[in-house]
Amino acid sequence: MSAMIGITTFIELDEFTKIRRAYANSVATAGGIPVLLSPIVNETLAEELADRLDGLLLSGGGDINPIHYHEEPHPTLDLVCDTRDQYEFQLAKAFMNRRKPILAICRGAQVLNVVLGGTLIQDVPSQVTTDLPHSQEADRHVATHKIQIDPQSKLAEILDECQIDVNSFHHQSVKDLPGTCQATAYAPDGVVEAFEYQGDQFALAVQWHPEAMTHDEHSLKLFRYFVDKCSCS
Ligand code: MN
Repeated sequence: MSAMIGITTFIELDEFTKIRRAYANSVATAGGIPVLLSPIVNETLAEELADRLDGLLLSGGGDINPIHYHEEPHPTLDLVCDTRDQYEFQLAKAFMNRRKPILAICRGAQVLNVVLGGTLIQDVPSQVTTDLPHSQEADRHVATHKIQIDPQSKLAEILDECQIDVNSFHHQSVKDLPGTCQATAYAPDGVVEAFEYQGDQFALAVQWHPEAMTHDEHSLKLFRYFVDKCSCS
């Protein structure tokens, strides 16, 4: 049986549930069954979804309310949605409690970090010295900066590479990680581009958008590994 993988979504105009098609397409291409999860804040629902699904994909999107990591809002804060924050926190916790696999992408990486006790750089362009295009204008499938991957990491094992080119659509990034996680990839300017949970569970977070690059063997490898992990756990 193919693994069933929940994908988080967002609310638009307080009326529609929405998410880029590339997430579900990538899960399906990698052999999984994508299941879009409605943004409903309900802990019992989150627990039941975590019981029934085999893995969780925390998707990209707007900024997390910085109240969750005890900071005041930066002026560039964008697209904050408390419903989305709360429902993704509930799901992330429920999947962590069951040690079921999590792949966290962009905002998803930030959600996983904050839910485990980490903090964020609220605005990379104004808070980090960098010339890199972390908010690129090129198309989503185009790589615009390099990342260096820790050779000892799960990510290096999955990709069989220690340096790859990635796309970049984020104005926020990891500041402090919780003790349970380790940064495993960096951009040349020091921005954290991936981290991994160090316990007995697959929970891997990437700051780039592999779902937009599945023409690229590295992105496909990452989705295949995640779906395989969901199938056998
Ligand atoms: Mn980047």
